[in-house]
Amino acid sequence: MVTIEHLEVRYGKNKSPALAIDSLRIEAGERVAVIGPSGAGKSTLLRSLKGYVQPVQGKIEILGCNLLLASRSQRNRVNRRMGLIYQQFHLAPRMTVWQNVLCGRLGEARSLPSLFGYFPKRDRRIAWEAVCEVGLADLAHQRAGTLSGGEQQRVAVARALAQRPSLILADEPVSSLDPLRAGEVLELLSEVQTHHDTTLFMSLHQPRLAKAYAKRIIGLRNGRVVFDGPPDALTTSTMEGIYGGKNLLQFDGDDAVTGSR
Ligand code: ADP
Ligand code: MG
Repeated sequence: MVTIEHLEVRYGKNKSPALAIDSLRIEAGERVAVIGPSGAGKSTLLRSLKGYVQPVQGKIEILGCNLLLASRSQRNRVNRRMGLIYQQFHLAPRMTVWQNVLCGRLGEARSLPSLFGYFPKRDRRIAWEAVCEVGLADLAHQRAGTLSGGEQQRVAVARALAQRPSLILADEPVSSLDPLRAGEVLELLSEVQTHHDTTLFMSLHQPRLAKAYAKRIIGLRNGRVVFDGPPDALTTSTMEGIYGGKNLLQFDGDDAVTGSR
């Protein structure tokens, strides 16, 4: 699904790379969380997969397409199969829930009419299924900007689902939510990942949440992979390797977590 080799990403003339990954493979159907301290390179890794940053060197292959050598149309084809979820939701606040979710079909229904809101029946059916799947049918005609943060992130999940994605990339999808909503959104993401057998690759600020909701955890520090294993292998000592002895207070609460779902 995703293969990274000898990847190096730098911003400007910074001495050290923001990301330096020798080798990383994500298989289809995996549910992976990337953790690490602020500045570790989590967002840079996700941005590299989206094609938003140009690496200095290395290879990124997604769905069999080598991103750095691909033509524009090949990259567009891969992008259409990647659903994106952001910390700040990135919805059109004045548009309704329904219209936002329909936007997930824009990549497929690229005809001019769809730009003016006329989508073919098949696209409308797929978008409506996504609205129902995230439990927002009752709010479908409400403006997205009037919803709570948790509801807005559900809209973003539905919009991603409407793409029928092979890969969902989520950069800190619950950092703007209170703990209860954060758990609900991660539960939803886990459910849709399982139900659609898609691949979920997300960055999470809190290791506790990664342990509870991911099946594989990748720890980044200074742009390098310093941990890659199942949730059970994330112990206090492996956490020290990722966070350098900092941030471990967050982990103390992990007794309350009953393992991966
Ligand atoms: P994380 O998401 O784990 O907090 P980032 O990927 O945002 O980390 O950042 C990795 C490193 O790259 C940090 O040192 C950060 O300061 C640097 N960085 C990120 N974005 C930019 C940018 N647009 N310009 C310059 N440096 C950046
Ligand atoms: Mg980040």
